Amino acid sequence: TVAVVLFTSDLRLHDHPPLHAALKAADEVVPLFVLDPGIHAAGFDAPNRRAFLADCLNDLDASLRRRGGRLVIRDGPVPREVRAVAAECGATEVHMAAGVTAYAHRREERLREALGGDGVALRVHEAVITAVAPGAVTPAGSDHFAVFSPYFRRWSQESLREPLAAPRTVRVPDGVRGEPLPDRAQVPGVSPGLPTGGESAGRDLFSRWTRSGLTLYEDRHDDLAGDGTSRLSPYLHFGALSPVELVQRSRTHGGPGAEAFVRQVCWRDFHHQVLAARPGASTEDYRTRHDRWRDEEEAAEDIAAWREGRTGYPVVDAAMRQLRHEGWMHNRARLLVASFLTKTLYVDWRIGARHFLDLLVDGDVVNNQMNWQWVAGTGTDTRPHRVLNPLVQARRFDPDGTYVRRWVPELGDVDGRRVHEPWRLTAQERSALDYPEPVVDLAEGLARFRHARGRD
Ligand code: FAD
Repeated sequence: TVAVVLFTSDLRLHDHPPLHAALKAADEVVPLFVLDPGIHAAGFDAPNRRAFLADCLNDLDASLRRRGGRLVIRDGPVPREVRAVAAECGATEVHMAAGVTAYAHRREERLREALGGDGVALRVHEAVITAVAPGAVTPAGSDHFAVFSPYFRRWSQESLREPLAAPRTVRVPDGVRGEPLPDRAQVPGVSPGLPTGGESAGRDLFSRWTRSGLTLYEDRHDDLAGDGTSRLSPYLHFGALSPVELVQRSRTHGGPGAEAFVRQVCWRDFHHQVLAARPGASTEDYRTRHDRWRDEEEAAEDIAAWREGRTGYPVVDAAMRQLRHEGWMHNRARLLVASFLTKTLYVDWRIGARHFLDLLVDGDVVNNQMNWQWVAGTGTDTRPHRVLNPLVQARRFDPDGTYVRRWVPELGDVDGRRVHEPWRLTAQERSALDYPEPVVDLAEGLARFRHARGRD
């Protein structure tokens, strides 16, 4: 017997329930990845993610080859390609991970329909992309948790499986046609500092992280210059690492650093269960509707300054340049630039979210949209009116200005925390800098925000 394993956002061999089940059920297995043009058409295949995906697929293929198998790549709509592959190898079942987005649900439905006609069973596995399946824990009277803390309490009580070992051998039947693997070097417009993708790189990073960063995580995760977070997000986004394994191994490690880290990983599951229950929240305001954002055309210059990292607020500009250079941004920086755009400049969160999705290597409809909504005060934040003052944030999380000097070379010679307020330098000092004046006065921005929200 033959089974097909359709890989989606789960590009790994370790702790992979669909692969595990397929190997148990069948003598031979076709590990399949389909490059669906639908993703391209929806504008979700930004260069950084396409390059990282190419790494993931190459690594997955290499790991399968070491086990006697290979990865089959196909190009085309998922239902059509999976159906064709199943026919080519005479498969009786197809295994895949459950997704949460509207796109994933549609894909699953169409696939079920396409395979059903041929008598091929579709087996969908939960808790592959998240540690706890969306909907597995719910509060009384609702289909999802809208507040993080009670969700975290319930989530923490769930018992997770022991991570499944990677298979030793994978036998792939002959005669299944495949496309060549994509090549990262062929993707134009990739950020120069983009990390290497793939399960092997992800597992190495995770091992190094548990040996060094994890213990210090609680104290260091908000330090912009110290960069004390795991940087595992792109590996989680592509499923090159299993969230179940991440949580289980961190718990085994123990200590306050690991606890704080697991709590952060839980935010990922939290947002997944919100979006799974309310798929429309990827584009529509989740809780509080705001329709008084500034007109996009009127705000065009401010939006461009924000995107390009020349708002005149050094910490904001540093973060936006880090994003462009690395395809990644520190969480604290994401919070403060998103607050700056939506609350200080009063620009619609969807505009910021779009820009993030164009560049982030971990850019993810679930985490990106739900975090943007959280910051914009339209989502699950229980204090939707809080505004992060970029100066206060800079002094607190980049106290001596190292982060700013790293990313804004024009300010490289301004010492200490003076770098956060270049407008306070003497006229002579300022004239030597090629750095813009602030695009907005913070007090005015705050007044506009309060006025607009006060009327809501
Ligand atoms: P760590 O601090 O090491 O955390 C470990 C893991 O926990 C992360 O890899 C991530 O998977 C998860 N995590 C941590 N914080 C969050 C959070 N707030 N929400 C969801 N998961 C979290 N994360 C994405 O993965 N994709 C996105 O597109 C994305 N967009 C964001 C947009 C905004 C405006 C904000 C404020 C946050 C966004 N985040 C997003 C969440 C968070 O900033 C990143 O997950 C984190 O910075 C990744 O770095 P790390 O792996 O070093 O994190």
